[in-house]
Amino acid sequence: MGRARTRLCYLFGVSLKKKIAILPGDGIGKEVIPQAIRALEAVGAPLEFTSFDWGADRYLTDKTTVPPDGFAMLGRDFDAILLGAFGDPRVPTNIHAKEILLGMRVEMDLYANVRPVRLLDGRLCPLKGVEAKDIDFVVVRENTEGVYGDVGGVFKKGTADEVAIQEDINTRKGVERVVRYAFEYAANHLRLDGSPRQNVLMCDKSNAMTHAGGLWQRVFKQVGSEHPQFKCEHMYVDALCMQMVRDPRQFDVIVTNNMFGDIITDLAAGLQGGLGMAASGNIHPGKTSMFEPVHGSAPPIAGKNIANPFGAILTAAMMLRHLGLGAEAEKIEAAVLAALLAKKTTVDIGGTLGTREAGEWVAQRVGA
Ligand code: ATP
Repeated sequence: MGRARTRLCYLFGVSLKKKIAILPGDGIGKEVIPQAIRALEAVGAPLEFTSFDWGADRYLTDKTTVPPDGFAMLGRDFDAILLGAFGDPRVPTNIHAKEILLGMRVEMDLYANVRPVRLLDGRLCPLKGVEAKDIDFVVVRENTEGVYGDVGGVFKKGTADEVAIQEDINTRKGVERVVRYAFEYAANHLRLDGSPRQNVLMCDKSNAMTHAGGLWQRVFKQVGSEHPQFKCEHMYVDALCMQMVRDPRQFDVIVTNNMFGDIITDLAAGLQGGLGMAASGNIHPGKTSMFEPVHGSAPPIAGKNIANPFGAILTAAMMLRHLGLGAEAEKIEAAVLAALLAKKTTVDIGGTLGTREAGEWVAQRVGA
C-alpha cells in the first residue's frame, strides 16, 4: 500500500487490517483453527477476525446450513476466509457440509484448489531415502466441476435393474482457467530452494475417458504453447500415483480435475507426514478466497486434543502469503519447521504434545 494511501486511511480512521472470516466448522476443525489463529496473532499480522458458527451444531439447532446472503456477504465484506472442516456423524446426510463447503467453492467460484506438497522434515516421509528437499510440488485441482456437481440420477432405485448415472462436467471455460492458473502459479512461485519452477504436468485418464480427457488435452496443449519456458508433461492418473510413490522428486506443478485432485492429494499428504500436515487454498484470483487444511473433521479423533494443528497453521501461512504478507507467512512456516525439528508435535507425527500444546509452542516461537 502506498504511503499516501496509508496516511489517508489513518486520517479518516479507515482500518488497514485485512478482514478474515473464520469458520471453524465441525470436529477437529474447532480444535485446529484456534491454533492457526494463535499463530496469526503471534506474528502480529494486521488482521481482523470475525467468527461464524456455520456447522453441524447450528444446523441441528435451527436447520440453517448457509444463512441467507451468506456467500455474498463473505465475498463482499472479507479479504479471505479461514475454514476448519465440515462433517458430523449426527448429520448422516452431511447436507450442511455439502451446502457450506461444496456450495462455497461453487457459488463463490473458487475454481483453483491449490495444495502445496512439501516435505518439511525427511523423517515424516514413509518413503526410503527421501529427504526434505526432495518433495516440493503443488497440485492445482479444478474445484467447481467434474463429478462433484451432483448431476445425474438413479433409475429403478432399489430393484435388481437399478441404474445410477453420475455425470462428469468439463467445460472449456472451466478447464482453461484452471490450466492457465497452474501455469501462472508456476511462473509466480519459486521452489523452496529459490530455484524457478520448470515443468507443468497435466494428469487425466484420457485413454479411458476420451471425451473429457480430449478437452483437457487440447486445452493443455494450447495454453502450454503460450508458456514456452515450461516443459509440459502428461501422465494418466494411475501412472501418476505409482510415480508419486516411486520418485516424487520429478514433480513441480500438477494440474488435474476435481476427483483426481481429491485422490492424489491424499496420497501426496501421505508423503509429507499425513493429513495433519497438508494445507490448501481455494482461490479465485481477485476475489475473496478460502483457505482450509486438507483434512476433514475426523470424527474418531475429535474432542480429544490429539489432532495435529500444523496443517491448519500452514494453511494460515498460505493465506498470509496470498494477502501479500509474505514475511509473516515465512515466520510461521519457520516456527512449524522448528517444532518438527525439536519434536514438539502431536502424536500422529511422532511427538507427545496435544493439539493446544503444539499450537502454543508454535505461537511462542513465532512471537520470540
Ligand atoms: P473427509 O470425508 O472430509 O475427507 P474424514 O473425516 O473422512 O473427512 P479426515 O478428517 O480427512 O477424514 O481424516 C481421516 C483420518 O485421518 C482421521 O480419522 C485421522 O485418523 C487422520 N487425520 C486427519 N486429520 C488429522 C489431523 N489433523 N491430525 C491427526 N490425524 C488426522
